[in-house]
Formats: sequence, structure tokens, C-alpha cells
Amino acid sequence: MPAGVPWPSSAERTSSGEISVGGIGVTDLAAQVGTPVYLLDEGDMRARARRIREAFVDAASRVGSHAEVYYAGKAFLSRAVARWMVAEGLRIDTASLGELTTALEAGVEGALIGLHGNNKSDEEIDLALARGVGRIVVDSRGEVDRVARAAAAAGVVAPVMLRVTTGVHAGGHEFISTAHEDQKFGLSIHAPDGGTSPAVDALEAILQRPELHLIGIHSHIGSQILDAAGFTAAAGALVRLRAHLEERTGHLVGELDLGGGIGVPYLPEDIEPDVAAFARAIVDAVAQACRETDTPVPHLSFEPGRAIAAPAGVTLYTVGTVKDVRLEDGGHRRYVAVDGGMGDHIRTALYGASYHAELVSRTSDAGPVLSRIVGKHCESGDIVVRDVMLPGDVVSGDLVAVAATGAYGRSMASTYNLVPRPGVVAVREGTATTIVRRENVADLLALDVG
Ligand SMILES: *Cc1c(COP(=O)(O)O)cnc(C)c1O
Repeated sequence: MPAGVPWPSSAERTSSGEISVGGIGVTDLAAQVGTPVYLLDEGDMRARARRIREAFVDAASRVGSHAEVYYAGKAFLSRAVARWMVAEGLRIDTASLGELTTALEAGVEGALIGLHGNNKSDEEIDLALARGVGRIVVDSRGEVDRVARAAAAAGVVAPVMLRVTTGVHAGGHEFISTAHEDQKFGLSIHAPDGGTSPAVDALEAILQRPELHLIGIHSHIGSQILDAAGFTAAAGALVRLRAHLEERTGHLVGELDLGGGIGVPYLPEDIEPDVAAFARAIVDAVAQACRETDTPVPHLSFEPGRAIAAPAGVTLYTVGTVKDVRLEDGGHRRYVAVDGGMGDHIRTALYGASYHAELVSRTSDAGPVLSRIVGKHCESGDIVVRDVMLPGDVVSGDLVAVAATGAYGRSMASTYNLVPRPGVVAVREGTATTIVRRENVADLLALDVG
């Protein structure tokens, strides 16, 4: 593993030929914490959080505005990660009772937390209100009334945003593109002939409720987005919606949230988006639309998850069975089976996502062989890396690492086949710290009450 895309910034080849991450060789790491394991380069993740926050804060200040960056916890959240993010000046975005509770248990002040969800439970709403969460992002017309009732019962005024869909479609896959109209999130800003749009209808309903304080309008257009154009289109649409609402009601919404979705490189040939340029493009689009609508520039917020977590993480596996399969065209494919698989790495199977992997426990002079890294689960779709060149002498006991698994790896893991989920180990300056313990069969059996 060579330094650079798509490996964490601390990854390097040591004099013994193996790779180290966070200053620790992978052989030592495997001996200390076992495999499979998710390694998180703490320094890299924190530096990414800091850089992204600075990019948006700087871009906003250039147009006389202010920006807040929320780390989207669904990418990967633990108490340690929540504390790192807050220490770097970010806030935390949550979308479930588990994420919300984890952020609170990390000691994050409620005011620095946002709550999302298209189908929030009463328990989630009540906890958010009880702990003074800074924003509840309302996702449907019915939720306006539910949050208002819960706020009245709790004797508080709930700070809310409304999630809208702008019709902008962006991102890596249909399931992670969220702002086109035919999907479950948010309310459309498009009005039927002669009527008001579902978004305006819900915004006006919020303004009429004394238990609700409308703090902003929210749009999340998708994920793994590599081009700022979708964001700038959404930004313009939000500014125009804000201006339209002011015309109708006299209320000028204070904040626009452009969501998350900044993409990352997964393969060595992928280019890393320039976050500072992204931030400037989005903020400039907001400022431009504000000039056109003659409205003041709003406060802004952003919710990146993947761009902070993904490149900082790698999954370390031990190679087991190696098998050559003859293909119909006469060629061969080498199947390299590792001690994990779709349980800890679902994105390849779920989205057809591409990943990069390397032999990391030693160097090899053997010629490269087209290989497929597969897991140990009972399904032929159990593929971790579909196509990757690995040295031809890879054998059982070697360690391979898969790059850019820090986001949507552990957070999407399952216990399929009753395979316990790997732990997460933070590495930094020669120290390895377990931040999420490896699951074991006893953990799984503890849930099985007979
Ligand atoms: C998933 C999600 C994010 C984070 O998306 P990334 O692609 O990880 O940056 C932010 N906001 C909302 C509402 C989301 O659903």
C-alpha cells in the first residue's frame, strides 16, 4: 500500500516490506487485535473533518455568511468518533435512536445534534426534545403535527427544519440518490397546477404551530457525488423556495442545509474531489441565487459523512482458501477468500461498488493475477472486491487490506450466517485503541433467548 489515494494518510510501507497504518505494522495489528478488523486512522479522519469544516466556513465567510458542518453519523458512529468530531469543531447528525443515544452518551450537547429520519419513532422524537436537540429535520406533513404534539407534551418549542426534494438527482447509485421525486424522503418543492407544493404546505403548517420554531430548510441530494453541479442546482432551488415562502408569509428562513454526499476515491485511479472548490461552488450558488431573489444570504449547514470517514478506514483480512476457476472463455479467475465478507462489507453486493485491495503483510515479486476477493458467507454474491490485481503468490495466512471502508462498512455490517461483526480499532502514532469491540459468538447467543 503505497501512500496516497485511496489509502489513509498514515499508510506506508515499512523497511520490512509490510504496510503500517497509524505507525503500526499490519502483522502486529493482526496479532494484537485479530482479523477481520476495521482500522480507522484517527489522525486522518480528524484532519478530514477539520479540512472540510474549514472549507465550508471559509467559503461562507467570503459571502458574509456562517456555516456549520455536521458529521453524518450513519457513515460510522461510535462514542470516540463523536468526541473526535466535536473536538474538531463539527456537530453530529443522527438518524435513529441508536445514533442519537450514542452521540449523547459521548457527551455531545443536545444543541450540537441533529435528528433525521423519514419515519421517526415517538421515542426518537421524545428523546430529541428532552435532550434539547438543536434541530429535528421533519420529513413529512404528518410529522409536523407529531413533533408539535410531542413538543407541547414536553413543554418545549421544537427547533425544526423541513426536508424538501428539489428534483435534483445526483450520486453513485439509485439507492443513494435521494432528491429525485419518486423516493421516500422529504417533500417536493414542485407545485401541482394551480396549487401549492407539498413543501410550502408543510412549511406554512410549521409556521402556524407555536410549538415549532422553523429554523431552516434541508435538502440532501444523494451520496458519492463527484461533481458540485447537483449541489449548486439544489442550492438555487432552496434559495428560491425560501424567497417564495417569505413572499407568502413574511417569514425569512434563517438557515439552509445542503446535506451530505461529497464523494471519495475508492480506486487508485479515482480523483479526490477538491472540497474547498466544492464548498466555494455551493456557497457561490447560494449567494448568486440570493442576489437574484433579492434576499440576504442565509446561514448554511452541511452534513458530510463518507468524505470524512471512508478514506480514513481500511479493513484488514487474513487470506484463507485460494482457488482458481476456469472461465468459459478459457481464462481463469482467482478467488481469494478472506475471513470476513458481505457481513462486514455489503456495499459491493448492495450497490455494485468498486473497491481496491492489496497484499499488505509482505512484498512480492510474483506477477499480478486478476483476482476476486470473496468472503466466507454462504452466498455466491459474497464479494468484497470484484476485480483486483494481486500478486500471483498470495497464500493462506497473508494479510490483505481493502481501502476506503471507513464509511458504511461497520455501520452497515450484519451478522449474516451468525458471523460476528469485526471490531473497530483506531490507530494513531503507534498506538492501537479498540473503539468498538469485536463481536463474538457469545454476544450473538446472548440475544438468542431460546
Ligand atoms: C446519508 C446522509 C448524509 C451523509 O451522506 P454522505 O454521502 O455520507 O456524505 C447526510 N445527510 C443526510 C440526510 C443523509 O441521509
